[in-house]
Amino acid sequence: MPFRILKKKILAPNIKKIIVKAPLIARKAKAGQFVILRVDEHGERIPLTLVDWNEKEGTITLIFQEVGVSTLKLGLLEEGDEIHDILGPVGNPGEYVRDQTICVVAGGVGIGAAYPRTKQLKELGNYIVSIIGARSAELLILEEEMKKYSDEIYITTDDGSKGRKGFVTEVLKELLEKGRKFDQVLSIGPPIMMKVTCDVTKPFGVKTIVSLNSMMVCGMGMCGACRVTVGGETKFTCVHGPEFDGHLVDFNELMMRLRMYKEEEQIALEKFKKNILVKSHASG
Ligand code: NAD
Repeated sequence: MPFRILKKKILAPNIKKIIVKAPLIARKAKAGQFVILRVDEHGERIPLTLVDWNEKEGTITLIFQEVGVSTLKLGLLEEGDEIHDILGPVGNPGEYVRDQTICVVAGGVGIGAAYPRTKQLKELGNYIVSIIGARSAELLILEEEMKKYSDEIYITTDDGSKGRKGFVTEVLKELLEKGRKFDQVLSIGPPIMMKVTCDVTKPFGVKTIVSLNSMMVCGMGMCGACRVTVGGETKFTCVHGPEFDGHLVDFNELMMRLRMYKEEEQIALEKFKKNILVKSHASG
């Protein structure tokens, strides 16, 4: 089954969107689920949230940030190229709730993962207040799509180049302090942002769901790479998550585990970049 890239778009520096032919996945996909792909036969397994899908066209949409060798390799593929394999959909769909007021807090490339849940929750009849943010205006993705499925939207950038200057969590804190009531908060973005979201909501007793981006290998609950501690119990993000009650997640452990192979990742990245440079010199 060739997973051909039909469309590719650069959304922001180092953030790309691809639409890929994957009819079987498109038929089964539900908001909150993800896929695990390998760019080539020897490739690392990359977990990516399903951003969108079209059953009729047999396509899925993925958004990724180029941070390491594997995502850089994925970013080098062009329209017409094939991804070696895609496993999915994996993970549990997000909880279906209706007629609630839900605050979606999403940051950076995590907005891509928050979008399908926002859309689904809006379509289920919930009132959606979105707070989306990025480091700067040029890194803010899916603004129009998020607006479409939000009843209210707040935008922040760390440097103030768009919307309000500051972090998404500052807006959330202000809203809660002003007495704004939410039935739940859904927070998706970098782990530190999700941790701070939970620190903000806890004193107000607001249920807070987070979508974890643990390191992942098998995606079937067997290898244990994606283990997290939730409420003092070991859980596997791939089969028990990716969404969890944020107030029970041990974020310090999650962040420590995500840093575990930083040195090896850096060495691999430098080697990869050097190889590309050598190849481009040889061909040019
Ligand atoms: P980033 O560092 O640019 O941060 C994005 C936004 O998060 C910021 O603009 C800010 O509003 C908020 N934020 C950042 N640090 C904060 C802090 N200390 N306190 C409060 N809010 C803070 O994010 P990025 O580089 O676009 O994202 C990369 C990270 O997102 C990676 O770790 C990646 O694994 C993760 N990610 C997570 C998911 C998920 O499903 N949870 C999906 C995609 C990416």
